[in-house]
Amino acid sequence: MSQPIRLALIGLGKIAHDQHLPAIANDPAFELVATVSRHGEAIGSLPFFATIDALAESGIAVDAVALCTPPQVRRALAATAIDRGWHVFLEKPPAASLVEASALRALAAAKGVSLFASWHSRHAAGVEPARAWLAERMLRDATITWAEDVRHWHPGQDWIFEPGGFGVFDPAINALSIATRIFPRALFVETAEIEIPANRAAAIAATVRFRDEAGSAIDARFDFLKQGTQSWDIVAHTDGGTLTLSEGGTALAIDGDAKASGADELASEYPALYRRFAELVRAGESEVDLSPLQLVADIHLKARIRIVDPFAW
Ligand code: NAP
Repeated sequence: MSQPIRLALIGLGKIAHDQHLPAIANDPAFELVATVSRHGEAIGSLPFFATIDALAESGIAVDAVALCTPPQVRRALAATAIDRGWHVFLEKPPAASLVEASALRALAAAKGVSLFASWHSRHAAGVEPARAWLAERMLRDATITWAEDVRHWHPGQDWIFEPGGFGVFDPAINALSIATRIFPRALFVETAEIEIPANRAAAIAATVRFRDEAGSAIDARFDFLKQGTQSWDIVAHTDGGTLTLSEGGTALAIDGDAKASGADELASEYPALYRRFAELVRAGESEVDLSPLQLVADIHLKARIRIVDPFAW
């Protein structure tokens, strides 16, 4: 049995507390050796630093870091870690831009460390069965509906509406990480309209029509102002029936018959992400699929922009 991977967790916000800390604690492949956060608090007696530089200068032995900050500061932190020879687990989205992400991939390769651009939604229970089912059928059309209340899920997270914060594409990129996994052909952005609040820099809603390489239409609606029932659903009509992947990829039904269902979506996705990260580190490999980020970038390249009412929390 090899030694545990000595891991430091950087960015102690919602996802770090809700998912990363429990997943790390339950995975014997990792030993949490330090945390880093400008304003957070130490976890018990675990070494705690305000910056990644302070961690590096502390002399604590670190093999890898997991970066749970907002995307705007991810590239600089990852570059510092890679430069130190540390393996890097990137929360989604992997960076604030495509070039930032691909530069990190090149840096990790040059330095011989593992870089893992994680997409947690791809580990939801219904995603791999959906991929296998769709691979054997011809897609006719599909709809993606990702509609949630930003005030409920991201209260006070101002970074999300800052430049590089992704706005509604913070959750929408989860839908696109699933879509790029389950649909067998590449997706192109045909038309897009992005709605940006007059007082913010990033989208609060968007309507997108994709087409796949065979010409099938995939219509998406992304909405950050959804009240009442929240939706994280993909419905695909094929020559062999209708696939419904709902609850963020957790629940799969074919022609209305339930096929897969996971009890608690994120709670099962993060242990799978850490298992994958350990595999990559042990194998000396990286996994950096930028296709969801490419689609978000293409949507912004091709979109008509509509300025809408100011947003307040
Ligand atoms: P959050 O609660 O706002 O936490 C982000 C943390 O990063 C903060 O605690 C902050 O701690 C640190 N940070 C470092 N530099 C920062 C900066 N310039 N601006 C703001 N914070 C900074 O955010 P989160 O919900 O955990 O999301 C973090 C990442 O995880 C995002 O990329 C998000 O897409 C992803 N994610 C979130 C969820 C979710 O359900 N929330 C689910 C999956 C993935 P200090 O101020 O103490 O440094």
